[in-house]
Amino acid sequence: MPPAQKARNWRLHVIGTRKKTYILDNLYFGSLVRDAERDITPKRCFKDFVREERNPQIIDLLSAKDLSAYCEIIVSELGQGRAYNFILGIQNALKRHDQNSKCYLRMQTQNEQDEMLARQEWRSQRFWGKPRPCDICGKEGKMYGSPWGVPAVLTLCKRHYNLLFFSSSSFTAIIIAVFAVLAILVMGSIFQLLTAMFIASLFLFLRAVPWWKKL
Ligand SMILES: [Zn+2]
Repeated sequence: MPPAQKARNWRLHVIGTRKKTYILDNLYFGSLVRDAERDITPKRCFKDFVREERNPQIIDLLSAKDLSAYCEIIVSELGQGRAYNFILGIQNALKRHDQNSKCYLRMQTQNEQDEMLARQEWRSQRFWGKPRPCDICGKEGKMYGSPWGVPAVLTLCKRHYNLLFFSSSSFTAIIIAVFAVLAILVMGSIFQLLTAMFIASLFLFLRAVPWWKKL
């Protein structure tokens, strides 16, 4: 079976005194909206606003007023979700323009999609890679999204990034496993059990270490 093709983002082109292109979500909108259209049978359908061409000079354009009217009807039929937000996005974009402006929707070409994703990737790398002061010690670090599975966005220097492992759930799992093994091994002797508990406590103590400023 060929791999499922990902939906590309939609573009809303508004042509008028203020020409503007809006990049919209990448959902399979045609199929999502069809049910709502079937129930209300609006004068125009989503596909009436969709064009394949990129050149507005050679295509049949529609008025922003018509698209706004369509959005208003269809949005009342859609439950909260991506399709609803998609239509709301179009409505909000059109509000910024004269209702006599011309407009059309089209899906991005594969090239445009690739370029957009490359740009987003570049921006995201630039954002995450930018040097920032470490949240713990203030030395130069960078931002991490849930480092070692710790549920937080933290800015950490290299050292505190590595130390943070002791605060992760992987480390907690290790503590539990080590304690369980020790407890099984020394069962029968209260002194040995206390030793096992002491070792486990030391491990638990290590969980706080990453947050020490002096380290
Ligand atoms: Zn640090």
